[in-house]
Amino acid sequence: MNYCSHCGGEITTVIPEGDNRLRYVCTQCSTIHYQNPKIVAGCLPVYQNQILLCQRAIHPRAGYWTLPAGFMELNETTQQAAARETWEEACATVEIDKLYTLFNLPHINQVYLIFLAQLPQPIFSPGEESLSAELFTEETIPWDNLAFPTITKTLQYYFSDLKQQQFTFRTIDIAPHASYQQVK
Ligand SMILES: [Zn+2]
Repeated sequence: MNYCSHCGGEITTVIPEGDNRLRYVCTQCSTIHYQNPKIVAGCLPVYQNQILLCQRAIHPRAGYWTLPAGFMELNETTQQAAARETWEEACATVEIDKLYTLFNLPHINQVYLIFLAQLPQPIFSPGEESLSAELFTEETIPWDNLAFPTITKTLQYYFSDLKQQQFTFRTIDIAPHASYQQVK
């Protein structure tokens, strides 16, 4: 950040009084520009034991498959964000069930929230950010061409839980070069 989004003044990095970490602070209007993690909300849409995936048309990971998910907007709930992303990326209307996986990604300052969701009708088509949208079974999922570790992990948990018919909420920490750590 070089210039203040409030007044256009130059930005400096200082530890404000009473704080304990460096912040972007405007040299003119003294506004402190706090930076906080972003929330990515998404769905695992299920239609008769098949999962709806989208093939990404945009970077990062264009051409790879993902569950519909994206950054939360202001003035919406996490469930609304997950449903909206599913509409935008797969033109599908889902019924959100419950929160299924939470991923902490501190190295990229993101938190992923994936909800289980029902797709009542097999009605979908690729949205603007997708090349295609398709239903997959465990056997047909393109496991080697999934876009993100969060997606692979969520799908692995789902098919494992499906065999037990018990879908347990999980919190997972993902580190850049370490293996996955599941927090009990
Ligand atoms: Zn300013």
